Formats: sequence, structure tokens, C-alpha cells
Amino acid sequence: MNEKILVVEDERDIARMIEYNLKKEGYRTVLVHDGSFAALTAAKEKPALILLDLMLPGLDGLEVCRRLKADAKTSAIPIIMLTAKGEESDKVLGLGLGADDYVTKPFGLKELMARVQAVLRRASVKAAAAGPEKLKAGALELDAAKVEVRLKGAPLELTSKEFELLKALMACGDRVLKREELLEKAWGMDSSLEVETRTVDVHIGTLRKKLGKEGRRIVTVKNYGYRFDAE
Ligand code: CA
Repeated sequence: MNEKILVVEDERDIARMIEYNLKKEGYRTVLVHDGSFAALTAAKEKPALILLDLMLPGLDGLEVCRRLKADAKTSAIPIIMLTAKGEESDKVLGLGLGADDYVTKPFGLKELMARVQAVLRRASVKAAAAGPEKLKAGALELDAAKVEVRLKGAPLELTSKEFELLKALMACGDRVLKREELLEKAWGMDSSLEVETRTVDVHIGTLRKKLGKEGRRIVTVKNYGYRFDAE
């Protein structure tokens, strides 16, 4: 244990209560009360997990999430969003942006601690099950150990979910992967996590764009999923 957790929450009472309980469980904590400092702090502190409130001064939680996932230094850090009732659409948007889980306020601390443990466990399982380290197709190279993708030798900026999807597809050769399988590989499927399969399509769409000409290698298999064409 002793993992560092970044708590982004402007309501000081809630932030302190979360911090107190995380410390009791043996975690280290860093607190930020303003959205505009969150991404910077994450890049500097490199926490194992981020608890991210949605309604924040400075920058709102969704924008913070977007910035975290767009930056290679922070894109692999799992995020649990703290949402209030009635923010259901924000919740779906947040998961689409690459957040790993959400907890709805008011939440029980036991529930929150269980989610924290589950997300950290999934992250470590995913890191351990890395698979083949270097994959290549055409002008595209993927280095799993370095979490790096190169296109014609130049590094390509991918979000963590785009990276995981590409890795899963490239690692499976010609085999067609169902959307559910891709969800499992990139998000670490969990029954508590209601990520919809169409979320996969959204991420595949942005991934294809970033891959340029090589994007055609990700082939849609109608009503089923995707496969990678390495030829
Ligand atoms: Ca708030």
C-alpha cells in the first residue's frame, strides 16, 4: 500500500473527510481545492489514483479529466469521479473521456474506499498483464513497456484508452475482438462499471484519426467489433 492519491475537491469538509479516511487505510494524500491546479499537480506528484470532483472552481472536473487524459505524463493515472445526483449526463461524458469509475454524492466512505481499492487493483493487474512488449505494423510501432506509439518514427500522443485499445487490437493479430472484449481490455471490466459498448466506438474513432493513413488498419466488423489488419 502507501500509494499516493490526489483528491480534487473544493468542499473542504468533504475533502478533509476523504483525506482522513484514505490515511486511515494507509494511503498518502495530496489535496487540491481548485480545478485549475489539478492537472499540474497530477503531473508533478504522479499519484496512483485521482479522486476528481465534477463541480469545481477554476476548471470543472470534466475539463480537468480531458486534460489529464490528453497528457502522456498523466494519461495512465486512473480517475474516480465524484458526481452529485442529477449529473448523470456528466457521468457518461466523464467515462467517455476515460475516467475509470464514479461515485455519486452523498456517498458512504466504505463504498468510496472499496471503489478506490478496486480501481487500484485493476490498474495493477493491467500493468502486470502487459503481453508482448513491442508490436509493429507498417509505419506504426507500439512499445508496451514504454507506453509509447510511434508513427513513421515520430511519437504519437494517444490517451490511455486509445493506447490500450490499439495495444489490444495489435496484440490479437487477425482475430476479431468484440466490443465487450475491448472494454474489458482497455477499461478492466467490472460489474459496477456501466461503460457502454458504444464508448469503444467513440475511442476507436479518435484513435483512427490520430493514426492517419495507418488508421485503415483498424477494420470495423459489422455488428461485432474490430480487428487489426497488419498486412
Ligand atoms: Ca464541488
